[in-house]
Amino acid sequence: MTNETWGQIREGLISRVGRNNYTTWIEPLRLSQLEGGVALFEVPTPFFGDWVQRNYGDHIRNQLLTSGALVERLEFLVGAEAPRPAATSSSERAAGARPAVAAPASQTRGRATQDDDLPGAPLDGRFTFESFVVGKPNELAHAAARRVAEGGPVTFNPLFLYGGVGLGKTHLMHAIAHELREQKPDLKVLYLSAEQFMYRFIQALRDKQVMDFKSLFRSVDVLMVDDVQFIAGKDSTQEEFFHTFNALVDQNKQIIISADRAPGEIKDLEDRIKSRLQCGLVVDLHPTDYELRLGILQQKAEFYRGQYGGLAISHGVLEFLAHRITTNVRVLEGALTRLYAFASLVGREITLELAQDCLADILRASDRKLSIEEIQRKVAEHYNIRLSDMIGPKRLRTIARPRQVAMYLSKQLTSRSLPEIGRRFGGRDHTTIMHGVRKIEELAALDSQLADDIQLLKRLLQG
Ligand code: ADP
Ligand code: MG
Repeated sequence: MTNETWGQIREGLISRVGRNNYTTWIEPLRLSQLEGGVALFEVPTPFFGDWVQRNYGDHIRNQLLTSGALVERLEFLVGAEAPRPAATSSSERAAGARPAVAAPASQTRGRATQDDDLPGAPLDGRFTFESFVVGKPNELAHAAARRVAEGGPVTFNPLFLYGGVGLGKTHLMHAIAHELREQKPDLKVLYLSAEQFMYRFIQALRDKQVMDFKSLFRSVDVLMVDDVQFIAGKDSTQEEFFHTFNALVDQNKQIIISADRAPGEIKDLEDRIKSRLQCGLVVDLHPTDYELRLGILQQKAEFYRGQYGGLAISHGVLEFLAHRITTNVRVLEGALTRLYAFASLVGREITLELAQDCLADILRASDRKLSIEEIQRKVAEHYNIRLSDMIGPKRLRTIARPRQVAMYLSKQLTSRSLPEIGRRFGGRDHTTIMHGVRKIEELAALDSQLADDIQLLKRLLQG
């Protein structure tokens, strides 16, 4: 596929992402290679590629699929690093295939952009409250988001949503923004990622427009900053964020923040920011359970049935997927999308065999056994001790306790036997492991800090 063809194909994205976003993000993309299911684009900066991947990746892939190119994944290379376009690519061989996937247009609200004068990130039209499936693991977060979306008097500030990757944080934030736009069109609602906050801030510094930056951010009624853990360790951005945050709280403006962990757990975030973030309502999204996954799959399947002219999927296949893909919702959705695309492409019914076939890699990855080494590494990191101390002989409490936590988690999260675990903890006896596991069980029942640590570690390890 040449860049000319790509040029034509990408026009189709205008209606999906809006003219402004198209000009900013899509038009500069150069397709440099399309091979082996990978579309490689040349981009001006790493940030650019990352941004496009996150916000427009699905749209671009769908558009390419629609044009007959078999694309599974997009990759971005910064300018000069990009290899020269290949003479013949698999996409040319695949060019005769019939169009496979229509983008989920009926699910979008057709307004992917925000007010032009606000420097926010585009909203995904699919991320609404209607499309958010509520279950036990996310009901509190959902209720809190609903409350904030009513746009009434500010009762808790900020709303801090946290949880592992792909559990619906961004979805909920976009849903709040959509809802507010509809119900309270006069409110200035700004949604952006912490990364973009930083990017804008640096840009303002460079262009000597910090005052504009400040007044703009202080003029919004609702500010949402996604993935705030990103600014940890970035000192001047943190500082600016802190001031923006305080200014808005003082004016009683609603702030909504998301992160991949609780405020107190974010390393390299200033203490005063941590404590500020904890002042409002902190709610976490728990890892999905089977019912929630099944609910989400049913909802998506319903949608795809419309998209693919009635192509059906049996309940058994959905149950199979809900059982087997436990990592996160994004992976679950990706599996279903691929299943439909593949089945319609080859003109076959969606059966269990087809699913096993077509999703072999995803199923294998989800099956991936957590290793004891990974557990040791995460626990050591969490308690700030050396990995070598996990297997070493030190008996200091500050080292022995984390080691026992790692033993406990190894017993809980892997199927290894006590002697096997013992071997990986520097050749300790199985009774030592047993003792460690019991000790942690006892302590966790009494010590809520320890219980919290264990919850967090489990989430990190399984997320
Ligand atoms: P996070 O921001 O927490 O990493 P996202 O909000 O991006 O996760 O969610 C990942 C994907 O999973 C999105 O496509 C989102 O629509 C979907 N998703 C997550 N939770 C739900 C849910 N409860 N109902 C429907 N879709 C969900
Ligand atoms: Mg997110």
